[in-house]
Amino acid sequence: MIISAIKSKDVSDKRSVLHPETIKNLISKGIEIIFESGIGGGIHVGDQTFIDLGAKPVSRESCFSDAEIILTPSPIDDHEVKLIGGGKTLMGMVSPFENQELLKNLCDSNINLVSMEFVPRITRAQKMDVLSSQANLAGYVAVIESSSLLSSAMPMMMTAAGTLKPARVFVIGVGVAGLQAIATAKRLGARVEAFDTRYVVEEQVQSLGAKFVKIDLGETGETSQGYAKELTDEQLAKQKELQSKVCERSDIVITTAQLFGRPAPRIIDNSTIKKMKRGSVILDMAVESGGNVEGSKVDEIVEVDGVKIVGISNLASKVAGHASYALSNNFNNWLLEFYDEESKNIKFDFEDEIISNSVLVFDGEVKNERFK
Ligand code: NAD
Repeated sequence: MIISAIKSKDVSDKRSVLHPETIKNLISKGIEIIFESGIGGGIHVGDQTFIDLGAKPVSRESCFSDAEIILTPSPIDDHEVKLIGGGKTLMGMVSPFENQELLKNLCDSNINLVSMEFVPRITRAQKMDVLSSQANLAGYVAVIESSSLLSSAMPMMMTAAGTLKPARVFVIGVGVAGLQAIATAKRLGARVEAFDTRYVVEEQVQSLGAKFVKIDLGETGETSQGYAKELTDEQLAKQKELQSKVCERSDIVITTAQLFGRPAPRIIDNSTIKKMKRGSVILDMAVESGGNVEGSKVDEIVEVDGVKIVGISNLASKVAGHASYALSNNFNNWLLEFYDEESKNIKFDFEDEIISNSVLVFDGEVKNERFK
């Protein structure tokens, strides 16, 4: 079997779905690897490193036409779909909710699609979960980026020149990214508070040494996949009002609130921003999916009454080396789980929960029930 790996369409995305430390796992199974020349440029890995490990650099076009499985970190264009022959498989992160036309084209061309965003949240699939592996790094980067914009240090320091107070950080949304943001801010010595509509995370927040802010919104809850349920308008208004006091005393607010497959909820508006301290920073981690914060813009720092509102796309790409290592491991783990050495092909067994969730298109039709 030949597997190819291509670069992201987004030139600012430095990540690679191929990594020197993980590629050997595939090659040792007798799988042939070809890759788009320059794929490791963003992580300082040259073609020669991959060649030495047994892979072969080719053109982007050859990656589409010459492989049975094409690994991609981003959606591909219509004309690229045409280069792939029927019966082959595109596997990667294609943001299916935003790219429904691509799904239609793949169906029409009889190309299978494995969407890594749809790997289910079950224990066996954790090692394949690209959303978690990238959100974890994004949470780390969010703290590093926002702390660099403060005019003060993060930890408390007892100095001869006086005691320097620690920075106060408020993390809203305690999923994978939020937990890593809390842990990173704690490691830097900040005083950390956090809130999530899924009250079950209170214990996790406390175990990291942070304080869980109690805001009673009545019944909230989560889906069977562990995602938050959407709040009612009344609940959202109450959340905004009560968390506003915590924002006022914070130096950094990091928002991570997301709803799977829907625009992110707007949880901080101008009335709160106007009450915050001058020089404080809000980093909106949901800026690409609608934004948690009024006025946040992708890849911009907007200043409102001295408060910096920061939107950074693809935070994980800022630590592209680790992000690529984790991504390629996620991809490999999926491939190795379903690669059948006898037939030298992927075993698409739709009785398997991981296959039935992550294979969105198969044999010319959309398979995933939730996506339908
Ligand atoms: P996510 O990216 O969808 O959302 C981020 C966080 O925002 C969530 O914790 C959510 O509850 C919160 N949120 C939504 N609306 C909010 C609001 N109005 N105010 C405050 N917070 C709000 O979530 P995620 O990071 O992908 O993870 C969600 C949960 O799933 C976590 O508990 C995580 O540990 C779990 N998870 C489990 C597995 C697995 O079992 N394999 C894998 C990944 C994640």
